[in-house]
Amino acid sequence: MKTKARFALPDKKNYLVCEKCGKIVIIDNCPFDKFKEELIEVHGFDITGHSIEVYGVCPECQKKG
Ligand SMILES: [Zn+2]
Ligand SMILES: [Zn+2]
Repeated sequence: MKTKARFALPDKKNYLVCEKCGKIVIIDNCPFDKFKEELIEVHGFDITGHSIEVYGVCPECQKKG
């Protein structure tokens, strides 16, 4: 069992959530990096992490109607 490395979730916190079946799809191409630069510049934060949650309906559920 892994007890450590709880802190090391660099970029797997960006995902799509299907509102119908609850399926979760990880977003590989994170759009945050660009935005991050801006936040650092504008707000002066030392950014240590982020999470993007996007809701919608997955293709399978769309087919089902
Ligand atoms: Zn679905
Ligand atoms: Zn990200």
